Amino acid sequence: MKNCIFCKIINREIPSNIVYEDEKVIAFNDINPAAPIHILVIPKKHIETLLDISEEDSSLIAYIYQIINKIAEEKGFDKKGFRVITNCGEDSGQEVKHIHFHVLAGKKLGDKIVG
Ligand code: AMP
Ligand code: ZN
Repeated sequence: MKNCIFCKIINREIPSNIVYEDEKVIAFNDINPAAPIHILVIPKKHIETLLDISEEDSSLIAYIYQIINKIAEEKGFDKKGFRVITNCGEDSGQEVKHIHFHVLAGKKLGDKIVG
């Protein structure tokens, strides 16, 4: 999608620190980390928000969680745990309108919500 910052990352139009990539998914470090490990996992398909997930996307969304597990195992933070967050819409503060899964790890995540 033109003018989408995450599509530009996928297309290498802007730089990012990529930690995982395959034909369906890409994961990169968040530019403004909220924890020692803060990775954004996104589908290459431009889906704006959680509300835009269609039935045909359900396997893609499940696949994203498999990839999150794979990254957690590879980086070793599966052992101590991690948190996955997806913001949706105005009240959540969703800034980028390309669905993304924040993966936070590397410290005790005290609050139940990351502000
Ligand atoms: P959200 O508020 O849920 O939409 O989260 C958007 C996230 O994208 C924020 O945590 C930003 O720090 C992150 N972000 C924005 N631009 C970039 C970028 N160019 N590279 C990596 N992360 C980014
Ligand atoms: Zn996009």
